[in-house]
Amino acid sequence: TTVFVSGATGFIALHVVSDLLKAGYIVIGSGRSKRKNDGLLRRFNNHPNLSVEIVKDIAAPNAFDEVFKKHGKEIKVVLHTASPFHFQTTDFEKDLLTPAVNGTKSILKAIKEYAADTVEKVVITSSVAALVNPGDMGNPSLLISEESWNRDTWESCQANAVAAYCGSKKFAEKAAWEFLKENQSSVKFSLSTVNPGYVFGPQMFADSLKNGINTSSGIIAELVHSKAGGQFQNYSGVFIDVRDVSKAHLVAFENPECAGQRLVLSEGLFCSQEAVDALNEEFPQLRGKIATGEPGSGPSFLEKNSCKFDNSKTKKLLGFKFYNLRDCIVDTASQMLEVQNQV
Ligand code: NDP
Repeated sequence: TTVFVSGATGFIALHVVSDLLKAGYIVIGSGRSKRKNDGLLRRFNNHPNLSVEIVKDIAAPNAFDEVFKKHGKEIKVVLHTASPFHFQTTDFEKDLLTPAVNGTKSILKAIKEYAADTVEKVVITSSVAALVNPGDMGNPSLLISEESWNRDTWESCQANAVAAYCGSKKFAEKAAWEFLKENQSSVKFSLSTVNPGYVFGPQMFADSLKNGINTSSGIIAELVHSKAGGQFQNYSGVFIDVRDVSKAHLVAFENPECAGQRLVLSEGLFCSQEAVDALNEEFPQLRGKIATGEPGSGPSFLEKNSCKFDNSKTKKLLGFKFYNLRDCIVDTASQMLEVQNQV
């Protein structure tokens, strides 16, 4: 079976590609440049079941046409992970909303045009951000589940970069479900979405830490590199380990019961205070050198400052246990410290 993975060079996607290859799938990955694609092949030791295609910018109209013109008749499964995830912009439409929405629309349109009879499963990497906007995230009387939608509009989400990123995930996911509704008779695939909370956990390849860092891992890196007595931003939300996110992408298309479902990936609430507590307790070499905040205050902070989550439906569908916060943070930070010691 051939699986196409968009954005194959990303933090989550590298784990997905690795899991797919291990499970015996043939993988076609897209990256933005020849340099990035060569790097991808090299990292997987030129695995015979891995090939690459360039998709330079998912914001461009018909971005995926060439790939599906060429490979449409081989591809059975499409995992669409590519989407901008950063907050370094003030032009939210151009840099976040439009690429996210256009990317989703153009990959589905290319399937319809060139692979309508071959593609059976599409999995889109959406987000908890599509379920709840940052403003509502802090409301303790709100319960978020697989049915929830971020309430922001195209306009209101542009209040700041974080809200705009969250909006980009909402509008991209909406576009996918709408596309399927409108084109039910001309495609044969079923759609599932994977909606992770903050994704932490080790990089698939430690050297990814040497040239910049993906946005969610940056939250932990900031704590590992904080100063004794220093401040840190107390991010809060739900978290999930990247190794579980990857596994969920495979189950999403392998388990027929996941068709038509939104899979909400959360192992529970988290805040930076709890992560910093884990670092101070688990790493003697960091104790006294990094921030401490108010140790032990995480749970009561979350009680007052976070909405509640119920993803029991997803857990049942996936049927595997997620990494807990301690193990996830320890594995994330251990890799960061190892790489730092090599420099
Ligand atoms: P990364 O930034 O590592 O991955 C994003 C991928 O998308 C990269 O390969 C990136 O390529 C590619 N991409 C971004 N913009 C474009 C564009 N305009 N044209 C072509 N490719 C593009 O982050 P993650 O692995 O964390 O994110 C993967 C997916 O998971 C995204 O859809 C994200 O929204 C979602 N997600 C992530 C969460 C997290 O906490 N990490 C939580 C919930 C959802 P390049 O690096 O070359 O720019």
